[in-house]
Amino acid sequence: MDKTVFDVVIIGGGPAGLTAGLYTSRARLETLLVERMIPGGQVMTTTKVENYPGFPGGIDGPDLMMRFQEHCQEFGLRIETGEVEGLEDQGEYKVLTIDGKPVKARAVIIATGAEPRKLGVAGESEFTGRGVSYCATCDGAFFRDATVAIVGGGDTAAEEALFLTRFAKKVYLIHRRGELRATAILQDRVLNNEKIEPVWNAEVIEVKGDNSGMKSVQLKDRVSGEERSLDLEGMFIAIGVTPKAQFLAELLKLDSEGYIHTDTECRTSIPGVFAAGDVRKKILKQIATAVGDGAIAAIMVEKYLDDLDG
Ligand code: NAP
Repeated sequence: MDKTVFDVVIIGGGPAGLTAGLYTSRARLETLLVERMIPGGQVMTTTKVENYPGFPGGIDGPDLMMRFQEHCQEFGLRIETGEVEGLEDQGEYKVLTIDGKPVKARAVIIATGAEPRKLGVAGESEFTGRGVSYCATCDGAFFRDATVAIVGGGDTAAEEALFLTRFAKKVYLIHRRGELRATAILQDRVLNNEKIEPVWNAEVIEVKGDNSGMKSVQLKDRVSGEERSLDLEGMFIAIGVTPKAQFLAELLKLDSEGYIHTDTECRTSIPGVFAAGDVRKKILKQIATAVGDGAIAAIMVEKYLDDLDG
């Protein structure tokens, strides 16, 4: 990287990071957005976004994020691929280690988001990529005419179950409780889809298979305690997410689940360091709320830098 000092460095290129980048670059702050892979975040793995305003009929996740990125670039946001390995508070400057090299910023916005939570059962990691997946949108098409399962009872599990019916001949929805927590409209669609069969009060306790991939899961009924085997060619896990903030645990205050503590203005425990989007503890994690966070964090950065400059 030619330049190593910025007004703002934004870590993460999902809806929160890109919105923050739009605001700070439009405010003519020299901004670098660092993204580990391709910008877009979790929305890139979403088929249809139906609850982000302004897109009647819905919009594909990757299309929406491409628009976010193009919009940012109209204001000259610099986006680089890289991994932020560390962040040090040196008062007026924060020093980030990006792919082993130091980069200074007067303010930092952490928008690293979250990654899929794991079940933590035997066979799960062994068969990941060989039947077990955390993204139906990415891998669903590999399971044409197959019998698959989705694990979870939230909006993600419901949406992914519906998506999987496009390819699979049968989709079990394995949930640890007797009812879904997904929104009513998604529940209706799932429960009225003839390809989807709910398996209530069930816990996956083991994934089994052989060299060719997963073959079945062992289920335990949480009410009766009985165990049974269910033959499956694929299993998609959609049981929520874990925030990507562990690399900052020594510097920032995280809660027991690993989310960054902030106030309503996205300030973290360190002046000049802000957090936005799913990495931050908050009541609702949606694109709309991530966008709101990104805007707030960017405006707070502007105020913070104005105050520093007196
Ligand atoms: P979520 O709402 O937290 O749901 C996670 C589900 O996984 C819950 O049903 C939970 O069971 C289950 N679960 C958690 N840990 C488990 C474990 N160890 N074993 C088995 N099951 C486990 O997560 P999400 O569905 O990913 O949604 C996250 C947020 O994004 C939510 O606010 C959601 O509304 C939002 N979202 C919105 C949309 C949309 O509006 N289009 C789409 C996707 C996500 P319990 O119910 O028993 O806790």
